[in-house]
Amino acid sequence: MRLASNARKVTIRRFDSLCLRLDAMLEIPGKACGSCYLCCKVLEIEEFKKKAGKLCDHCVHEGGCGIYTKRPEVCRDYQCRWKEERSLSAQLRPDRVGTLLMDDPDSDEYHAVCDPEKPFMWRNPLVFKHLVAEAKSGRTVLAKAGLRAWRIFPDGHWQETA
Ligand code: SF4
Ligand code: SF4
Repeated sequence: MRLASNARKVTIRRFDSLCLRLDAMLEIPGKACGSCYLCCKVLEIEEFKKKAGKLCDHCVHEGGCGIYTKRPEVCRDYQCRWKEERSLSAQLRPDRVGTLLMDDPDSDEYHAVCDPEKPFMWRNPLVFKHLVAEAKSGRTVLAKAGLRAWRIFPDGHWQETA
């Protein structure tokens, strides 16, 4: 009985590691999440009533997902802009700059989302330069942290929005 149960555990572990390998093969080179888990903290996830800025209960201490092979569809499908866009450098990985870049799914806006505990990480020069460039290209650019939001304008000035 114990042998059967141990064998099952090994099989599950092998399955987990196979899933991880498959995910890695599908990634754009140099675009692995690695130790980043900013999306698991700063985003609201309606499916399991997770509020923006609260770390997901399934996030394990080291930053990985505790239910990786069983994670909900919404988590499987999610890619931040950094993961999707080759032109965004390795230095802009969300955990390195404390800012998650994303297209707002409900509008044409471009968002830089930060942890409410570190709301001004979007002022990092590398991030800010990128946000101004997006604003210059004609996008409406907002930095967000919890309930606060700031609009970034093409000339480089910025203003908190009500
Ligand atoms: S914020 Fe982006 S890089 Fe970080 S864990 Fe989420 S998808 Fe991966
Ligand atoms: S279920 Fe896993 S991938 Fe989804 S938010 Fe929670 S920790 Fe992140």
